[in-house]
Formats: sequence, C-alpha cells, structure tokens
Amino acid sequence: MLSLQKILQARPTVSKVAVKTPLALSRSLSGADREVRLKLETIQPTGSFKIRGAMNAISNLSDAERQAGVVCASTGNHGRAIAFAAQQLGAKATICMSELVPQNKVDAIREIGADVVIVGRSQDDAQREVNRLVQEKGMSEIPPFDHEDVIAGQGTIGLEIVEDWPEVDTIIVPLSGGGLVGGIALAAKSVSFDIKVIGVSMKRGAAMAESLKRGRPIEVEEQPSLADSLGGGIGLHNELTFQLAQELVDDVILLDEKQIASGMQHMYHNEGLVTEGAAAVAVPVITEQLSPRLGKNVAFVVSGCNVDMQMFEKVIAGELPYGS
Ligand SMILES: *Cc1c(COP(=O)(O)O)cnc(C)c1O
Repeated sequence: MLSLQKILQARPTVSKVAVKTPLALSRSLSGADREVRLKLETIQPTGSFKIRGAMNAISNLSDAERQAGVVCASTGNHGRAIAFAAQQLGAKATICMSELVPQNKVDAIREIGADVVIVGRSQDDAQREVNRLVQEKGMSEIPPFDHEDVIAGQGTIGLEIVEDWPEVDTIIVPLSGGGLVGGIALAAKSVSFDIKVIGVSMKRGAAMAESLKRGRPIEVEEQPSLADSLGGGIGLHNELTFQLAQELVDDVILLDEKQIASGMQHMYHNEGLVTEGAAAVAVPVITEQLSPRLGKNVAFVVSGCNVDMQMFEKVIAGELPYGS
C-alpha cells in the first residue's frame, strides 16, 4: 500500500540523481496578503520532475530485472527520465515510439543512451510493442504515473515543500495522470492535513477532471494543447491515481489555451524562466483567483522546461498555435 513510509524511503534513492530543488519566492505573484513560492523542478536533469519517479521505480527493481531492461512508450518527459535514470543505474532502457514521432524527440532520447524502437503509426502500436517486449523478453514496463514507486518518487516533492516552508497552506500542482498530485498530496497531508492541494489541467482533453466528475475513469478525446505534457488519458483500469485524486485533491481547475499562454508569458517576463505550458498553469489560478481554496502561503510546482523553442517564441510573441 502506498504510504508516507514509501515516500520517505524514496528520498535517498531519488537524491542520487535528482536535485533537492529550491522553493523560491516569486515577487511577481506575491502580494500584500499572499506569498507565493515556486518549486523549481525545471532544473532537474532531463528538465522535469519525472526523474524522481523514474529513479525510484528502476532502483526498486531486482538486479535481474534491471539486467533484462526497462521499457515504456512515452516520448515526452517520462521517456527522457526513464532513459536517463536507467543509464545512471546501469539498466538497459527501450523506448517504443510510432513513426509519427518527430525526429528531434527520437534523437533526444537516443542521445541519453536508450534504445529507440520505432513501430506502427500510433501510440497504441507503440504500446503493443511494449507489451510484447514485457512478455517475450522479460522487460519491466515503468508506466508514467499509475505505479506505486513512481508516485512515491514524485511525492518527495511534497516532503521538500513542507520541510522548507512549514507555513505552506496551499500547493498548486499541474495535473495529468495524477502521479505528481497524488504523491505530493499524500506527503503534504500526512504532515499537515490542513494543507489544500489544487490540481490544474487544460480544458482540452482533461481526462482526470472528467473522470472525477463522473466518479470513474473515462476516456476523453485528445487534442493538441500548449500544455502538451498534460495530455493523455488516465487509463480505464486506473489502479492508484484516480482514487488518490478523489480522496486528496481539494479542487481541480481547467484552463483554456489563452490562460496557459499567459502563464508562460508571465513566467518568462516576470520570473526570467522558460517553462513548458504544463509548468505555468498555476499562474492564472493565482492572478485570476480561480480557486476558493487559495490560501495565504501558496507553493506551486513548476514542473518542467522541455518546450519546443520555436513554439515558445511564438507564444511569447502572442500567438496561440492551437487557437484559444
Ligand atoms: C508528467 C508531467 C505533468 C503531470 O504529471 P502527472 O503525474 O501525469 O499528473 C506535469 N508537468 C510536466 C512538465 C510533466 O512532464
């Protein structure tokens, strides 16, 4: 069972590679009656917090399992983190992708040292190859969020926040599959049950938000968004993160593309930070007061910086590449 204990156990493992990131004061978002601090996961190796869960999950495999290799189908931050953590821990990593994945993403993951298998024309085809490698070659699949060790790894962020700032009363967390928010909420609320946790997703394809509304995991249509790291479903057979979100997330806020762009612009102009859309979603929640749960001491998880630079420049210039 997932518990605070598992998150405490994850700490020394995660810290072999991941940084204990700063919780930095945001002058631009703080005001007379609210202090806002940024948890800067953008400075992690591979540019996002996902290295925490990946390190913890691969470390907890047996030597024989690490020898047989780890596999996943993510081309985004999870895939990068798995490739890097595996390389650090002497495990073989295989990342399965479809032919439609752009060459720069393929190159980025190969550069870290993982094997890339290109198969089929969809994410489903890539996942079928993952399943085959698990069955036929005995590889271990490390999924991006619905896995105890992954959630526990992400939960170390929650421990760091409450340790560095015992007065924190609200934590704002970008929300997709829910591994990040689940781990953080479990850690933070185990220390102080009064801390409120707000999850933020985009309006376009908010699988967790829709699932919470219906009371069971459901699928939604995927659409392109500036917050591309928040895309994808939660799995119809979700085992852990749906229930964690049901029990521990106090409010879920959904943003349109314009709001996500405004968050990225704010982080750039006022904090000097290049962030991906997913990592800037807390900004409009604070500046537009979108949640009644917002307290006086607000931490927000700046979750990653892996944004395509051409896209980033367009957003800073005021374009909305996917409409509003
Ligand atoms: C994966 C990711 C998230 C969401 O994490 P979940 O555990 O899927 O909810 C948020 N931001 C970034 C940058 C990510 O890579």
